[in-house]
Amino acid sequence: MGAGRLSQLVAYGRKVYDLPERLGALSDSRRHPRTSAGLVGGSVLYTGLLRIGSFNALEPRLSEKSFLRLVGAAQGADKLCSVDTLSRALRVMDLDGVRQLCVGLVAQAERNKVFREGWHWAMNYVALDGWEPFESSKRHCEGCLVRHVKVKKRSGELVEEERYYHRFVVAMLIGNRFDVMLDLEQVLPHELRVEGQTADQTDEGELTAAKRLLRRVKQTYGWLEVVVADGLYANGPFLSLVAQLRMGAVVIARKETDEPLREARRLWQMQPPTQVIGQDHETIQLWDCPGVETLSSYDGPIRMVLGRVTDPRKPEAPSRDWPVAVTGRAMRLPPAKVLAVVRGRWHIENTGFHQWTSQWDFGHVFTHHQQAILALYWLFFTAYNLLTFFLYLQVKSYGRDRGRDVTRTIRRLVEEMRDDLARWGNPVWDPG
Ligand SMILES: [Zn+2]
Repeated sequence: MGAGRLSQLVAYGRKVYDLPERLGALSDSRRHPRTSAGLVGGSVLYTGLLRIGSFNALEPRLSEKSFLRLVGAAQGADKLCSVDTLSRALRVMDLDGVRQLCVGLVAQAERNKVFREGWHWAMNYVALDGWEPFESSKRHCEGCLVRHVKVKKRSGELVEEERYYHRFVVAMLIGNRFDVMLDLEQVLPHELRVEGQTADQTDEGELTAAKRLLRRVKQTYGWLEVVVADGLYANGPFLSLVAQLRMGAVVIARKETDEPLREARRLWQMQPPTQVIGQDHETIQLWDCPGVETLSSYDGPIRMVLGRVTDPRKPEAPSRDWPVAVTGRAMRLPPAKVLAVVRGRWHIENTGFHQWTSQWDFGHVFTHHQQAILALYWLFFTAYNLLTFFLYLQVKSYGRDRGRDVTRTIRRLVEEMRDDLARWGNPVWDPG
């Protein structure tokens, strides 16, 4: 076995997560394919991991000995297949199976006690949020959602144009050391809606997809305890689902006119803060309001916490308010922890969405097809999780760099792996 990082990662994937077996279990509905679903899956997984960027950039790799070795093609093979074949295979890949690949790695990490310590108050937190990786001006598939935008023509005339895009709700485990992609659910256009097939011609909303997602997430990962989300989720039906799943919620309550925030504001205004935490860079005033029961569509108490953050170095600058609704088992969190959790929600936007599009090319449309996009994302997220586990659990010296510039650290690691792959072209090297 070579000594480079890529060899280490491949060995880690094999020993700890049975990656070759899991890839081998993938299937699709092609008849007698010359390139198996497992090889297709492996090629796409390593395309994501090595940030190859597009199928055009992948094409020459598919006849490179080193890449063929990496994905486990038969010895002596000259070429895997064309990228068109990859694309066609993705369109008919079994989606449950490819989701199971990603889920299986996380479940294995859980069995290896990776998440045992939890995050704040030793609980495990899942953040939910909407994600829109790309937009185009032409409709390409049945899964496209559409929005109308006003565009200024060269003549100065304003015209309305259609924009097509896909939207997902993403579930991410957020933690102290690293964040793990858990599951995703597509926000469906009205043609594909499964629930309530009525004359209603509207597309699904993010909340509908999120509820479907949360049920499946809890069923898959029973050890998750608290849902963290933004203001869209601060409503009775969603919090009721959280309670039904025996979870807790920490959600931002932004709508000033809505209960339970309106009632909490009235009480907060009459009292001094419950606690004040002074630090060099910020002062936090906390108000606690543990038993609000004003939400008619939610049967139970809600703890309302307000965190007001000011910068002592800039006394004139406006303060930032974080009104938070807390339910279920999350209610045991002290107010300062509630604020820390809700402020940790940026992980899903930063280490998730921002990195995926700026560093991982997940916003590039490799192939525009309803099923293929989902299959591709499951493979890419498997790559993302594998690299995350490798970085923080295996190559521990890299893990300590977090907090400085983790993006640069990961980029350096991926560059090292690409160099390793180039060296694999050496015929003396034994893939082991
Ligand atoms: Zn589409």
